Amino acid sequence: MRKKTIRDLDDAQVRGKRALVRVDFNVPLDDQGRITDDTRIRASLPTIELLLERDCRPVILSHLGRPKGKPEAKYSLQPVARRLQELAGCNVMFVESTDSDEAYKASHNLKSGDLLLLENTRFLGGEEKNDQRLSRALAELGDFFVNDAFGSAHRAHSSTVGVAEFLRPAVAGLLMEKELEYLDSALANPKRPFVAILGGAKISGKIDVIEQLLPKVDALLIGGAMACTFYRAMGLETGKSLVEEDRIEMAKSLLDRAGAKLTLPHDAMVAPSLEQAKQARAVKRDAIPKDQAMFDVGPQTIQSYSRAIAAAKTVVWNGPMGVFETPPFDAGTNGIAKAMADATAKGATTIVGGGDSAAAVSEAGLDSKMSHVSTGGGASLEFLEGKQLPGVEILDEAR
Ligand code: ADP
Ligand code: MG
Repeated sequence: MRKKTIRDLDDAQVRGKRALVRVDFNVPLDDQGRITDDTRIRASLPTIELLLERDCRPVILSHLGRPKGKPEAKYSLQPVARRLQELAGCNVMFVESTDSDEAYKASHNLKSGDLLLLENTRFLGGEEKNDQRLSRALAELGDFFVNDAFGSAHRAHSSTVGVAEFLRPAVAGLLMEKELEYLDSALANPKRPFVAILGGAKISGKIDVIEQLLPKVDALLIGGAMACTFYRAMGLETGKSLVEEDRIEMAKSLLDRAGAKLTLPHDAMVAPSLEQAKQARAVKRDAIPKDQAMFDVGPQTIQSYSRAIAAAKTVVWNGPMGVFETPPFDAGTNGIAKAMADATAKGATTIVGGGDSAAAVSEAGLDSKMSHVSTGGGASLEFLEGKQLPGVEILDEAR
């Protein structure tokens, strides 16, 4: 079922009204409190701009970091307010007390063309408890609700779910709409061949994704340390590689059920330790030395995975192929990113989900070459697991 978006609201519903907008401005900050990456702010600009164009007055809510329900200076949204002002090119008012009369008055006094940003929702004790009193108070800050925080949609908090119980219409912003469109059409209605690539450190965090994707995909390509748990299930030596011993049995059963759909790396980049990355060399998967660990997929694997990606019409990728933080073990991850960028140019739909995968693609400078890079790490993973996202469920349905 498609959710209503800000585009579905008619003029009478929006003109002059206060739009309470939940965004995900959870940006990374350095130890000086400077924003190191403003992608998440940029990602919600189209929503804010459309609201301004439609003569609404946006009152913006976001969380930042993990303060424990009380103010903590290092998690203040103040630096975000300044960056937002630069990026949006309009005045940004800032109020420090989100759950207060001051915020309520500021929302009513907000001038057309200006923005109001309220302080970190996680400074409020009730936020993560989805507290009803807080939800009601937040609902007073707008005349309708817009959720553009896809990255927080898997959490039932006051500012993502509770508030929408008391404030209607409750609609999706443009970023939320785009995220849902891409992920939904990939899973529900993929152009074939449909290839999924899964990597990352742990198989335990990805089991539900594997189970959900297996019946839908034409091929499932495995990388990351996860591959080593599968190797062990096949009886191969994995040396000092990261293996989840308690998941080997489960890996066996997955291999049996998946048959030819599931592909493991043919070769591996190994080294005695990450500190000795200079000694990295490629070995066949059945020749991983006892005293070494697999830190990336090998060159043959990159080649054959790239061929599979080139032949695909839909590609979904979650989880780096290796320890991409430590070169040369970024080669597998970069190879996949490059193959996906090429496939996009030839008309395939390519989707990257997962925080570390998105960071790797952005580091490689290839984010604009993908059809879609999800801004929500945990949320996109839960979506791929087939779970309902509470922040999406609560929104009005389009008719
Ligand atoms: P995402 O955030 O994209 O969902 P994950 O969090 O599941 O990805 O996994 C990312 C982590 O997996 C990275 O920190 C990376 O270093 C690690 N990783 C990938 N391959 C290996 C490997 N062979 N050995 C150890 N760690 C690995
Ligand atoms: Mg991660």
